[in-house]
Amino acid sequence: MPLYDWKLKFKPQIPEDVLALHRACDIVDLHIDTFMIMKVRGIDITRRGKPVTFMNMARHAVDVPRLREGGVNAPCWGVVVFPFRRSGFFNQAMKYLDLVHRWHEEHGDLMTLCTTAAQLRETLAAGGIGGILGLEGAHPLMGDIGNLETLVNRGIRYLTLTHFTSNEAAICATDPSPRFTGLSDFGREVVEYCDEHNVLVDLAHVSEPSFLEAAAHTRNPVIVSHTGVRGVKDMWRNISDQQIRAVADTGGVIGVILHSNFLGGERVASVSRWADHVDHVVKIAGVDHAAIGSDLDGAIVPPREMQDIADMPQLTWALVQRGYSEDAVRKILGGNALRVFDRVLV
Ligand SMILES: [Zn+2]
Repeated sequence: MPLYDWKLKFKPQIPEDVLALHRACDIVDLHIDTFMIMKVRGIDITRRGKPVTFMNMARHAVDVPRLREGGVNAPCWGVVVFPFRRSGFFNQAMKYLDLVHRWHEEHGDLMTLCTTAAQLRETLAAGGIGGILGLEGAHPLMGDIGNLETLVNRGIRYLTLTHFTSNEAAICATDPSPRFTGLSDFGREVVEYCDEHNVLVDLAHVSEPSFLEAAAHTRNPVIVSHTGVRGVKDMWRNISDQQIRAVADTGGVIGVILHSNFLGGERVASVSRWADHVDHVVKIAGVDHAAIGSDLDGAIVPPREMQDIADMPQLTWALVQRGYSEDAVRKILGGNALRVFDRVLV
């Protein structure tokens, strides 16, 4: 038996009517990092890769064939610039965007890069896959709003205010000695720019004070593209009930991550544990504010039922088993995120 089959024994059979429901839904994944590993390893995402075997940074769980199999027709692609060097972040982001655009120029028949909700809706209605680009962290702005303008003009549609480090705009979730509280003046300027230019503000990775100020400052719905919740697993990267309410107050959505470490329970979590986090968001804020933000291909350890994005129906099955109605499932899988896109990505 090949090594990568070890997980198969954990994969529940999904009833046909649940698969039919899954196939009938538009499915938005608010954060996938596949272009990062394409940049590092030069993988070919036009072909079906092998299912994920075990933890390693270079895993490859998403490509076009498996997006199709998993029914994920609206992937949001992270544009990732590691924030640990001292400089050059803006140029690195531009190079990353070169790669993403080059790929789409060569393979425009397989996926469409969308900049508006209308374009995304049109792509989905035609049976296509429509991608949205998000910049993970404001460090590539390097304190210059002009850089944000350039990146937005190159297709960035959501901005995560921080990644692993604090930057000129906001403080990240791990910063032991923050230089300021909440947002800086520049951070407020960034949020205002996003509001004026129809860019979504994403609060994943962001410290609670910066998060709450950004949610209060923006006039648009915000997203948390990939996160767990502290009400189920209390840890630094997950968000509190107050943060969940703050997102809901904007009309925004919370993409529940598929990373075992954030979901908690066991070293390799179960899909049921993912559903616990969704349940908690729904309990605190209502069913209109839960979404999917897998973080696949972002060095995560997905639940044991999921070898790759082709296993997305496992999430639908978990929700149905929790008693969610068809309407609620449709919202969580994509309807809620699309509602926010409709409001902001105009
Ligand atoms: Zn991330």
